[in-house]
Amino acid sequence: MGRSSDTEYDVIVAGSGPAGISTAIHLTKLLPSMKNRLIVLEKETHPRKKICGGGVSAYADYWLQRLGIKMMIPSLALKTTRLAIDHDGYVEYCFDVDGFRTVKREEFDEALLKSALDMDIVVAQDEAVVSFSDSDEEIVVQTPKRSLTTSILVGADGAQSIIRRQLYKNAGMRGARNIARTLRFMTPVDNPNTVELEAIIDFSCTFRNGVRGYAWSFPVTIQGQAWINTGICDFHPSQKQRSLLKKILAEFLAARDISLDQGRIEGCQLRWFHPESIFSANRVLLVGDAAGIDPLLGEGIPFSLGYGHVAANSIIQAFKSKDFSFTTYKEQLLEHELGQELMNRLHWADKLYRSSGTKNAKDFLLSLFAPNKNG
Ligand SMILES: Cc1cc2nc3c(=O)[nH]c(=O)nc-3n(C[C@H](O)[C@H](O)[C@H](O)COP(=O)(O)OP(=O)(O)OC[C@H]3O[C@@H](n4cnc5c(N)ncnc54)[C@H](O)[C@@H]3O)c2cc1C
Repeated sequence: MGRSSDTEYDVIVAGSGPAGISTAIHLTKLLPSMKNRLIVLEKETHPRKKICGGGVSAYADYWLQRLGIKMMIPSLALKTTRLAIDHDGYVEYCFDVDGFRTVKREEFDEALLKSALDMDIVVAQDEAVVSFSDSDEEIVVQTPKRSLTTSILVGADGAQSIIRRQLYKNAGMRGARNIARTLRFMTPVDNPNTVELEAIIDFSCTFRNGVRGYAWSFPVTIQGQAWINTGICDFHPSQKQRSLLKKILAEFLAARDISLDQGRIEGCQLRWFHPESIFSANRVLLVGDAAGIDPLLGEGIPFSLGYGHVAANSIIQAFKSKDFSFTTYKEQLLEHELGQELMNRLHWADKLYRSSGTKNAKDFLLSLFAPNKNG
């Protein structure tokens, strides 16, 4: 440790979404002197566009608290969740929710960035990692502007991570297929008084069509304007289901008196966690979507924030032991409370998405969404 020139670092974090910013903040909290030797490189400039449901759960708030961050951005607290499943016919369950709110995702990520800047963490925006090469001694990171050297590179560059891709290439492996396909549709609401403070999660419209995922509808307020954030995700997408997903979304919207010509469908991917994935290599760690998040609901904000804690601890340990191989990173992740929750969600996802239809879905979905309430 101890580098301080503006092209030599101890840690370079690629990406300033929740995973990258959390890694940088946790590292700086664990080792304050780190901030002079750490840089976050971000391809875009905040507030950058992010396709998301904007749902912030109590679990996300838990990880924000662990970071010591109080989010001062506008949010809409929801009161109920309506869960739709097919079980001997179409059934809806409605229950109260506590601690679930919606935000404009761009504002959320910009506020996270600001927390890092307030701690004097250096973030270079509009500077993407284009490639990197590693040796026993260091990693050389190439951006469109310069070459940087670092002891450790953290890939926090999202579902399409180039860092992850390179790790798979170096290992001579094909990337695992743990990608979910998602579509999102934002609809402005003329009269905000008609908006119900309710989240809808529908496993019925998807399962009925053989799609292993769900459709959602969340109200959100952005600069005084009310919107309905609707979308659909498919955790095991196939080529032939591409147009099916759009058709199911159109029907889901039509059931709410929304037509496709009221907005634009935006497609995006997320990567879900699987323990057989690659999480690290010599001098390189993956966090957040680049590593894999919640395989059950695609809830990524809390898991990405949590990855920052795991990675920061591993990095500190690497500097102490002077062992940068990160061969035990996956083990540390799986032992960590975050890894245990990822494994728990994978267990439920396997039951839900790999079982035939919704045979056993009702009981465990209810226990998941409303542990103490039925009906
Ligand atoms: C449609 C949809 C809806 C979702 N809804 C929810 C929800 O309601 N609640 C929830 O909790 N989660 C939700 N998620 C999941 C959540 O958005 C992600 O899991 C989360 O954003 C992952 O955070 P991250 O920091 O790993 O990646 P990102 O937030 O994607 O951040 C990655 C950052 O890296 C930057 N970057 C990319 N390439 C490079 C490069 N080469 N060099 C430098 N920087 C780079 C990007 O510009 C970006 O800023 C949703 C996802 C999708 C697709």
